Amino acid sequence: MSEVRKEKGAESERKVGVYVCRCGGNISDHVDVEKVCEEASNIPGVVVARQDMFMCSDPGQDLIIEDLKSGTIDRVVVASCAPDLHEMTFRNAISRAGFSPYVYEHANIREQVSWVHHGDKATDKAARLVAAASAKAKQLQPLEPIRVEAKRRAVVIGGGIAGMRAAKDLATRGIKVTLLEKSPFLGGRAAQLHRVAPTGELASDIVVELAEEVLADPAITVYTCAEVIESEGYVGNFKLGFRRQPPESQEDRDRIKQMAESGKGFGEFVPFVGICPAQIPKTSEEHTVEAGVVVLATGIKPYAPRHGEYGFGDFKEVITLPELIKNMAQKKDNGTVLELNGRTIRSVAMIHCVGSRQIPGIHEEDETQADTGDPRRG
Ligand code: SF4
Repeated sequence: MSEVRKEKGAESERKVGVYVCRCGGNISDHVDVEKVCEEASNIPGVVVARQDMFMCSDPGQDLIIEDLKSGTIDRVVVASCAPDLHEMTFRNAISRAGFSPYVYEHANIREQVSWVHHGDKATDKAARLVAAASAKAKQLQPLEPIRVEAKRRAVVIGGGIAGMRAAKDLATRGIKVTLLEKSPFLGGRAAQLHRVAPTGELASDIVVELAEEVLADPAITVYTCAEVIESEGYVGNFKLGFRRQPPESQEDRDRIKQMAESGKGFGEFVPFVGICPAQIPKTSEEHTVEAGVVVLATGIKPYAPRHGEYGFGDFKEVITLPELIKNMAQKKDNGTVLELNGRTIRSVAMIHCVGSRQIPGIHEEDETQADTGDPRRG
């Protein structure tokens, strides 16, 4: 964590240096580096805009160090490759010049520009990224790293595959975990699948194995039917309030009914439902938990078409992918014959990406049905 030490002087007094890398042609073969520098030099607050063949080389870094030491600049922008390659290189160079490494902003004009764009558009995009980085650089404050005590507990929100995996991995590293799941069941959306690509494994096998590990681990405390109601704090020191209460959603009530009908008990996997690890609360109760880190693993929600979208709701044979998966998985003939409402289906048209190109305000999904396995239920 870092703290801000406010500098005297207005933002308008900041002196930004921009350094554009050619990367031996990797960048300059597609980006007009001279033009990027010229445009950068016209940005208010930018006092020098230089280019170099290899900014990460010693002579390249020396350009920055000399400008800082001479007082020419007090903020730095380097336009070069992806920050995970050389951001630290340039921050370290700034430190060697006696400045805070946090007066630095990075513009990626290689992976995000010259490797994917060409011609004038590449140069325009590079110039815009440099302009944005320069504007941000003027706002930067010198920071000083500080240490804060972090609580050795994690809260994982979501008891699906991702949440359970995160909980188990954290526990393996010696960190206590509180896992909160909104529904009465572990397994999330994965429990509602049949086989998973690319291995073809049964999703139920994966869910069962992981849930057993989680439930057997003394470092992990699982609360189902639990929802976060308040949170405060910061990285290393969060405090969360959560409430356990009887399930309210129709989806949860349907799944509890399916569990009862299946004859399965607590801790057992119910196909297309999940694993109910504990008694479902009959009254509401509130708890708090303190943790150093919070992992959000709240998963996905399948798109629920509106009535009439591609005939959905008007024609019984128009179904969603979750419905198709469930239908085929539950057939005793291994899904070789598809039947819908007593009719044998001989040909199938798949419509991909329904819901992914919707225009907000024009194509709204049906929120009232979005959490149900069968969007037309009710
Ligand atoms: Fe290439 Fe990055 Fe080095 Fe520039 S800083 S020469 S873009 S590797």
